[in-house]
Amino acid sequence: MSSPEKDEIVVQGIAASQGIAYGQIFLFVRSEVEIPTYQVDPAKRIDEVARFDRALVMTRQQIARIKAEVEKNIGPEEAAIFDAHLMVLEDQALIGETIRAFESTGNNIETCFNLVSQRYIKAFSEIDDEYLRERAGDLRDVTQRVLQNLLGQTENALNRLADQRIVVSHEISPSDSATLDRSATLAIVTDSGSKTSHAVIVARSMKVPAVVGVRNLTQRVKSGDWAIVDGYDGIVILNPTESTLFRYGKVQERKKSFESRLLEANREPAITKDGVSVTLMANIEKADEVGIVKNFFAQGVGLFRTEFLFMNAARMPSEQEQFVAYKSAAAALAPQPVIIRTLDIGGDKPLSLQADLFPKEDNPFMGFRAIRFCLEHQDIFKDQLRAILMASAHGKVRIMYPMISGSEEMARANAVLAECMTELKQRGQPFDENIEVGAMIEIPSAAATIDLLAPDCAFFSIGTNDLIQYLLAIDRVNDRIAHLYEPTHPAVLRTLQHIVEEAHKHGIPVSVCGEMAGDPVFSPLLLGLGVDALSMSPAWIPSVKYLVRAMTMAEARALAAEALTLGSPKEIYARCDAFYRARVKMD
Ligand code: PEP
Ligand code: MG
Repeated sequence: MSSPEKDEIVVQGIAASQGIAYGQIFLFVRSEVEIPTYQVDPAKRIDEVARFDRALVMTRQQIARIKAEVEKNIGPEEAAIFDAHLMVLEDQALIGETIRAFESTGNNIETCFNLVSQRYIKAFSEIDDEYLRERAGDLRDVTQRVLQNLLGQTENALNRLADQRIVVSHEISPSDSATLDRSATLAIVTDSGSKTSHAVIVARSMKVPAVVGVRNLTQRVKSGDWAIVDGYDGIVILNPTESTLFRYGKVQERKKSFESRLLEANREPAITKDGVSVTLMANIEKADEVGIVKNFFAQGVGLFRTEFLFMNAARMPSEQEQFVAYKSAAAALAPQPVIIRTLDIGGDKPLSLQADLFPKEDNPFMGFRAIRFCLEHQDIFKDQLRAILMASAHGKVRIMYPMISGSEEMARANAVLAECMTELKQRGQPFDENIEVGAMIEIPSAAATIDLLAPDCAFFSIGTNDLIQYLLAIDRVNDRIAHLYEPTHPAVLRTLQHIVEEAHKHGIPVSVCGEMAGDPVFSPLLLGLGVDALSMSPAWIPSVKYLVRAMTMAEARALAAEALTLGSPKEIYARCDAFYRARVKMD
């Protein structure tokens, strides 16, 4: 099946979504729309503006439809990409300038719109800011769509793949990926892109392999060429030889059999070789994820990120709506615990709804977010607290406050909770009067004052995602400094050790619910430092459990003790990685 007359070529890119695929390439080249230029009859100028309006409305409808599809098939986070596209269509500067250009030149509206958009795209793409540069991509995508609608052209060819294909493209825009024929896509390869590009998000959610950043691959291949895509090592092999195919067949078999071994072992309890039982819980964002929580045998939910209920709603969800969501998770998982975190908006999770409540901030990660917002908007906070309390009558519910900075804030939040309890009692509404309340430890000031927080907390959960960014002063979403975001920095280890020791002194259990908990390279370190439970995205539980079952707690403690004596983050990482590799072998 391979082409023996052609030489095998190995191209290195960035591994973006795991898996291996072999098949024929579909080269997707987005044809730039050809725009005719002509003068519009002055008597028809009103019609021309109306034609522009219709194209904008039509584009808006198409994007809203794609958004709804993505939300249903992939998830709300990915669907939110299209909000940026809808915003482009509302941009009065872009629309107003187009109409003014039309009025002054009399050129057809396509020509005017394209000219104005290209000017904006150029300006955006030259700005030295990752976020704004990405807006150029959004604008380019929307411009193409509006032009296609003005010219009566149909959508791209990605939704009509003739057969199963490896899709190779210079880049894949959000609307391209939304129209991608999922059943026929074997893998995705792009010339451009980073690990966080849209194509990657989509490939991961489709569970197909992806390699990005392969430079000028689109210029070296044509549709129909045969290729292997190795999403583990970020390699694309064009015209693979029989022996390469054989080798990859074996690699694929090994990886598949390892993954099925992981899933098989996941049915067993999380107990170390020296008999210590470890609690592995799940992080969820929506109540309907409880099915996945059960499938992966998580021991309850360690973090229910409730902001997603708010982020995708047209208005603030009512007490009753929230109650239904929390109750369904609590009841489905009872008697296992569900830790519901109160609203953590702001920072990387802005709320588009009721934008007037959120001032524009230069530094949102250190701004008006999470518990700070809730304590100032107690009507919103109380609706949520009452909903959680009501759900506690239907399962084992715990309450957790995000971004607590110290004991006074904790006491203020608990005072609001006490008011909610009184109100429910007056209503005769049942709830768990002994509900456990805890704090996320993700701000250094909270980590330094565990003893002061202890009297008001039944548990602590360390949010390493934020704790690391605040400890190291590394913005967690800034690509430019991403390499400096080091979970194995000695400052992080010492802080974790301090939190655990202080908490245990006061008899309070500690879990970790940041991304570190679900990385099998780090979980032994966390357990060795004395953390009582790990909470992670459910799909990571099999890998972490496999490692837990392959190690002794004594070894994990020794790893942590040694790591605490080392000064270099890289060296500590290397020890953790070696610990992992020594215990987890693919064959
Ligand atoms: C964290 O900060 O580690 C955490 C779990 O919270 P989030 O990622 O939602 O900020
Ligand atoms: Mg956080």
